[in-house]
Amino acid sequence: KPTVAIVGRPNVGKSTIFNRIVGERISIVEDVAGVTRDRIYSSADWLTHDFNLIDTGGIDIGDEPFLEQIRLQAEIAIDEADVIIFLTNGREGVTDADEQVAKILYKTKKPVVLAVNKVDNPDMRDMIYDFYSLGFGDPYPISGSHGIGLGDLLDAVAASFPEAGDDAEEEDVIRFSLIGRPNVGKSSLVNALLGEERVIVSNVAGTTTDAIDTSYEFEGQKYKIIDTAGMRKKGKVYENMEKYSVLRALKAIDRSDVVLIVLNGEEGIREQDKRIAGYAEEAGKGVMFVVNKWDAVEKDDKTMNKFNEDIRKNFLFLDYAPIAYVSAKTKQRVTTLFDTIKMISENHALRIQSSVLNEVIEDAVARNPAPSDKGRRLRIYYATQVAVKPPVFIVFVNEPELMHFSYERFLQNRLRESFGFEGTPIRLITRARS
Ligand code: GDP
Repeated sequence: KPTVAIVGRPNVGKSTIFNRIVGERISIVEDVAGVTRDRIYSSADWLTHDFNLIDTGGIDIGDEPFLEQIRLQAEIAIDEADVIIFLTNGREGVTDADEQVAKILYKTKKPVVLAVNKVDNPDMRDMIYDFYSLGFGDPYPISGSHGIGLGDLLDAVAASFPEAGDDAEEEDVIRFSLIGRPNVGKSSLVNALLGEERVIVSNVAGTTTDAIDTSYEFEGQKYKIIDTAGMRKKGKVYENMEKYSVLRALKAIDRSDVVLIVLNGEEGIREQDKRIAGYAEEAGKGVMFVVNKWDAVEKDDKTMNKFNEDIRKNFLFLDYAPIAYVSAKTKQRVTTLFDTIKMISENHALRIQSSVLNEVIEDAVARNPAPSDKGRRLRIYYATQVAVKPPVFIVFVNEPELMHFSYERFLQNRLRESFGFEGTPIRLITRARS
């Protein structure tokens, strides 16, 4: 999936455009997790194109001087995006700050599409001519607040998407990533998994990203560790900014089948861990917890149970994710991770036969009658699986409004008890039978 970044000096309307393109995606998971994620990264679509969108304006650079902030945001866009939307403000004309942004963008070979915002009606179109001087060809007039011109802009953006190359999914490869706060031991774990002292950068980057993936085979199964480069400290100014590392993590999660949420056994669970885990669940990925540095923890016979409880309490919505206790340092239990990853990936792609599925649903309804309201009872006609990765089921009913969250949860639990699905989210959608 290509990534598009919006750059431009402050006040040109970057977040308005971001929200317009993304639309309102309300997330139940965020509510459940009690997390309000700052929206600087989201999936979006235009016609038949799926892409990820970044609002670099939301990456807060801290106390750096104004021009330095603009420079860093533009460099992040160059690093992270396949196509860049360079946003300007038609009402103010070309400013010095716009020229600064342009200067940085000249350095990239990536396609840049120039947009002139706040052109709220056709009479104002003349405002765009000034912007040819920036040197990025035809400027696209748009209005974020009125929603004008976005279609033409997105057509131009989509026309610049790279061809899907090696980044296309290979069927027999399990793609996973290690996600977690700095210093929990992600790089050490990768090294331990690979059985080498250093991360081997074996195959460079899909055509559509700068991420560096590492391919590996273990007991006849091919694996790809996503974005191992993201774990190396490259020494750029922005590498250590929290928002930036979260952005990297979100991108890696998007490209994975299975996400390993790495926790530090010595330090316990932090807010940032929850935020990232929430995203993995929302993105529909397979998930497991890896508690690292277990060698350094003073243990008695209750320690592991207590940590298990802590994880379950803090990640209520991930009650299906397995937990492993490892040490990258002593390599204890590290290779067992491969088995768990493989198991999760199989569950993530599991397809249930309709006949078996409907037996389970019927049996569930027999045990616990469907809810009713004002004399009307929910009737479930049949269910069918419509997708994998993650498994999605549609339940056809008489009146979808009668379906309760709690009953949906009950049905999900029955599916889990019957089919396992350890490590993978599953989705249930209720529809009226037409
Ligand atoms: P990353 O930022 O998550 O990639 O973390 P690193 O892999 O760079 O590790 C951070 C620090 O923790 C380093 O000093 C490692 O040597 C140490 N470390 C990593 N894994 C373990 C472990 O299993 N046990 C102990 N005791 N230390 C570890």
